[in-house]
Amino acid sequence: MREPGERFGQQREVLGSLGGNPSYLENERVPACPSCAVTMEFVAHLEEGMTYETSMNLGGQLGYVLVCRPCRRGAFLTG
Ligand SMILES: [Zn+2]
Repeated sequence: MREPGERFGQQREVLGSLGGNPSYLENERVPACPSCAVTMEFVAHLEEGMTYETSMNLGGQLGYVLVCRPCRRGAFLTG
């Protein structure tokens, strides 16, 4: 297991990603939609940022944005 700083890099100008598949997120942690109970769809990674003054506080972890499009519900988790 690498440290977050090694996993996410310090030199990139764009942090996070849109679409694709979630990194480091175990399938059993992907939430079900609270309305229809279908497994939610991954849409984006969020990363903290490179400087203390401007970065989000995700506890040193990646943030995951998930949605259920039919129900227009969203979820956010870190890991
Ligand atoms: Zn739903």
